[in-house]
Amino acid sequence: MAFGIEDNVRAIRERISKAALSAGADPSSITLVAAAKTKDAFMVRRAVAAGVDAVGENRANEMTEKMGQGAYEGVPLHFIGHLQRNKLKLVVGRADLIQSADSLELLRALSSQSEKMGIIQDILLQVNIGREASKGGFEPEETREAVFLASGMKGVRVRGLMAIPPVWEESMKNYAYFDEMYKLFVDIRAEKYDNIDMRFLSMGMSGDFEAAIRAGSNMVRIGSAIFGGR
Ligand SMILES: *Cc1c(COP(=O)(O)O)cnc(C)c1O
Repeated sequence: MAFGIEDNVRAIRERISKAALSAGADPSSITLVAAAKTKDAFMVRRAVAAGVDAVGENRANEMTEKMGQGAYEGVPLHFIGHLQRNKLKLVVGRADLIQSADSLELLRALSSQSEKMGIIQDILLQVNIGREASKGGFEPEETREAVFLASGMKGVRVRGLMAIPPVWEESMKNYAYFDEMYKLFVDIRAEKYDNIDMRFLSMGMSGDFEAAIRAGSNMVRIGSAIFGGR
């Protein structure tokens, strides 16, 4: 990256604003999550100081280490990677939002761990919108049922949906996936299940966040455009 983290965050905010306004959305309604995997605590602190709304981490051990270094003070911490069962204790109750609840098995494990700790963990359900064999997440057709089942689990509260569409050369190709996610989100939100608060639609990364916002995303996860390449 030619500029520093502060300039990158400022430039991304401007692009978010433009995309939001063109979609008829309030720019302040879009949550900017800095995806911080592989970046050290000092760089994360700079992004926090530059005004990102939250920090997202992919790996429980890395998160634990940087947490010990005070990397996330002052902002919500999100977990955005695949969460292994043996790492649950490192993440439940520490992450404000676990965006990557990607199977029924994990949902149940999350709920029972939270209950043991006497908390309610906010989560997003990850949807495998591209129906890719290599990716985790609920199939679009299964998502409604998963939300319904989660609504009966005492330790978790579903706050929305998250998706990582297939990687394409041109971000506009993801528009159809973003559109499909938005429809799913709106449909499920309209169901008004107990104990479910469908607020966040997390989609859009460095290469495609403007298209995601135009399709209705209100939470973008941005790594390389803030921190440079990995
Ligand atoms: C790394 C990562 C991002 C950010 O990716 P960039 O292309 O670097 O912006 C977003 N979401 C998840 C789940 C990630 O792992």
